[in-house]
Amino acid sequence: MSDRSLSLLGTSALTVDYGGNRALSSVDLDVPERAITGLIGPNGAGKTTLFNAVSGLLTPSAGTVHFDGRDITRLDPHRRARLGIARTFQRLELFTDLTVRDNLRVAGEMRMTWSPLGRVRAGRDGGASAVARDVDGLVERLGLGAVADVEASEVPTGTARLVELGRALMIRPRLLLLDEPASGQTDDETKAFERVLRDLVDRHGLTVLLIEHDMSLVMGICDHVHVLDFGETIAVGAPDAVRADARVQEAYLGTPT
Ligand code: ATP
Repeated sequence: MSDRSLSLLGTSALTVDYGGNRALSSVDLDVPERAITGLIGPNGAGKTTLFNAVSGLLTPSAGTVHFDGRDITRLDPHRRARLGIARTFQRLELFTDLTVRDNLRVAGEMRMTWSPLGRVRAGRDGGASAVARDVDGLVERLGLGAVADVEASEVPTGTARLVELGRALMIRPRLLLLDEPASGQTDDETKAFERVLRDLVDRHGLTVLLIEHDMSLVMGICDHVHVLDFGETIAVGAPDAVRADARVQEAYLGTPT
């Protein structure tokens, strides 16, 4: 188990029941700052449920969620976003009738309205020029120049995953929750995605919690891995140690022949 004092996000004894079905059972999760933590496990293990409890889409039946030393278990999703928690979804949630650039812009404008100080800092143009600078920066960093003025409904899934990443980054998060970001991407797109993510963590201090079934991505990019099975933690550790763990092999990865 990692040193909890260095964790940006943590859960303690987190438990979620859907009616009589226990989806998470007393999960202690540590997400160390400025690192990438993978959250893996078979279908139905409770990964998305955990994301929903962290981002505020559901209130747990028991246990707590901490962010930056603060108990956020009962904060609504908007307040958590203001604290710096952003997320992407397994099923893409872009504004399909807006261009790629406008999808990013709308997210940036939302951030500008969050606090009186934000509005003052935004200046006379309501922050439009600051947002435009952020949009231009992300379009370049994510390699979206060729599709910036194309409607989101027209771009391929792999590109749309990058747009969704960009939209989450427009709120300048401290913690990014990524739900299966490589799903629908080509190998080249996944490699590019990996480079962008690593750079955001190493050079810009971002902290990432990543749900992903693409094991080469998880093992290649994660600093730590947390494994769930039937709502319970079955392993936590460095990627190599987790891959070699007998319970993980049995529950998820399959025993190598
Ligand atoms: P996947 O890899 O398939 O996305 P997961 O690890 O994200 O799975 P969850 O979606 O969190 O797993 O589901 C955990 C358990 O909770 C499963 O048994 C699922 O059927 C159940 N579950 C999830 N959402 C609900 C809901 N809204 N109502 C009732 N049961 C739910």
